[in-house]
Amino acid sequence: MNRIRVETPSKQYDVYIGDGIIHSIGSIVQRTCENVSAVLIITDETVASLYLERVRSVFERTYRVYTHIIPSGEESKSFEQFYACHTAALTYGLDRDALIVALGGGVVGDLAGFVAATYMRGIRFIQVPTTLLAHDSAVGGKTAINHPLGKNMIGAFYQPEAVFYDVSLLNSLPEREMRSGFAEVIKHALIYDRAFFGWLQAKIHTLSDLRGENLQYALKKGIEIKAAIVAQDEKEAGIRAHLNFGHTLGHALESELGYGTITHGDAVALGMLFAIFVSERFYQRPLFYSSFYHLFDHYGFPTAIPAHVSAEKLLLKMKGDKKAKGNTVRMVLMEEIGKVRVEQISDDQLLDFLQQFSRE
Ligand code: NAD
Ligand code: MG
Repeated sequence: MNRIRVETPSKQYDVYIGDGIIHSIGSIVQRTCENVSAVLIITDETVASLYLERVRSVFERTYRVYTHIIPSGEESKSFEQFYACHTAALTYGLDRDALIVALGGGVVGDLAGFVAATYMRGIRFIQVPTTLLAHDSAVGGKTAINHPLGKNMIGAFYQPEAVFYDVSLLNSLPEREMRSGFAEVIKHALIYDRAFFGWLQAKIHTLSDLRGENLQYALKKGIEIKAAIVAQDEKEAGIRAHLNFGHTLGHALESELGYGTITHGDAVALGMLFAIFVSERFYQRPLFYSSFYHLFDHYGFPTAIPAHVSAEKLLLKMKGDKKAKGNTVRMVLMEEIGKVRVEQISDDQLLDFLQQFSRE
């Protein structure tokens, strides 16, 4: 079992990674969280059918356990489901010493985390991620639900007590979801760690190589990078913005195509390609765009903006991003592998880059 320490100003906690570690959760929670009065496991329908009984029985050895199951999918990051979680917590009579367990992917983690942040002004929670993408969402303390007018617009910075990553739970994850999470692993390498990117190129030729020791190593490195960045900048005053590499176009695409049409990771991968394309032109230095193109293509990521999506519409969405400052788009660009910077890009320039990229 690997253990990674996350040290943020607001909280220090451990991320445990290993095969079969779910069975150790109970004893570790007992050591880390004192006087837990009851446990509420929040999960989605898909994960519930696969793993809820196993996880529930682990906690039942020590605690009074309640469960709350939400529908699977992004739509559950809603006011309605947020309210339903609070109703469940109140109905079960949870007090301020209760512990919420977020069992699932990023949707469950973001929602359950925000419920924990707000129930009785904040109770403890732990993350038990079950998707590859959740190596990103379960670490760092961003919790949120969506507003009809914007994704992740309502939320809080709220850190978990611990994160338990049992890689055996990823065996059931569909390939589309593995690829989605893999995009964020690649992102972590590209923004922070050239050697790790080299390792990915050498070891992960196709998604099926993301198993066993390789998967654990990729997760460990991805989480270490995320943890290092969050430790330096918990609330996104500076370097944390680097994590948005690929997300300016990625978010615009997800929103323009309709959430769920394209996975977050596929959108981010295409966004990273675009960011590299822009970086070569912005910094006027070769970054070997075509080798990234072929690598991403080989992994199965989309490599072109769908023809029916216009550059003008994407630009409008990019300007609406909550990371935009004033009215100029700020994009994370790559100076070299492992090193990125935030740059302001004028509308005209960005439109031009988008049109050139679409023609490529
Ligand atoms: P998700 O939670 O919806 O999971 C994807 C799908 O896989 C769902 O249908 C789910 O039911 C299913 N699933 C989950 N675990 C499974 C398993 N082990 N086996 C089989 N199926 C399984 O989506 P996600 O991709 O994990 O997360 C996306 C969300 O994460 C987005 O809402 C995004 O905004 C958020 N996010 C948050 C942060 C953050 O810092 N808080 C970072 C990145 C992404
Ligand atoms: Mg992301």
